[in-house]
Amino acid sequence: MIALPELPYDRKSLAPYISEETLNYHYGKHHKAYVDKTNSLIEGGKLAKASLDDIVWESKERDPALFNNAAQAWNHAFYWRSMTPGGGGAANGEIARLIDKSFGGYREFADAFAQAGIAQFGSGWAWLVKTGDGLAIRKTSNAETPLTDDVTPLLTIDVWEHAYYLDFQNQRPKYISAFLDHLVNWDFANENLAR
Ligand code: FE
Repeated sequence: MIALPELPYDRKSLAPYISEETLNYHYGKHHKAYVDKTNSLIEGGKLAKASLDDIVWESKERDPALFNNAAQAWNHAFYWRSMTPGGGGAANGEIARLIDKSFGGYREFADAFAQAGIAQFGSGWAWLVKTGDGLAIRKTSNAETPLTDDVTPLLTIDVWEHAYYLDFQNQRPKYISAFLDHLVNWDFANENLAR
């Protein structure tokens, strides 16, 4: 059994960028459904007591239905922690140094990250990851996750329509700008870097 992790902040506290109503659906319905479906698929099987990370890894090549639900459970837990009330703006700490080194500056990083989120066709995710050489931006489709790639995920934004439609309707670029300017949790990115 995996658990739906608690949101690390109050459902009202990301407003006006992400509303309580969005979190009621996105966390309370969508994320919960991925967790519940994962649990129903592992019940009684050899992954019944496995960690979520292990379920994602084990199902990747073998069980698309389980992978899609487990990876979405993982991606959403990571997304909630990628944001914090009062976050956003230029990075701090070690991640700021690596952003300068890999992208040439915060503005260049922000433009490239936004572009990845905008360019992801249909549902998916944009990611900041650490590779062997430095930092890189990735985008993934549907439930795909860099967890099972040879990189360390540092931050993510959900660009499925359910993430932004109530607050921004069809304006995905505005949602991505709000995420970068007001919500990004750089402390979380620094913690992931230190792992
Ligand atoms: Fe989502």
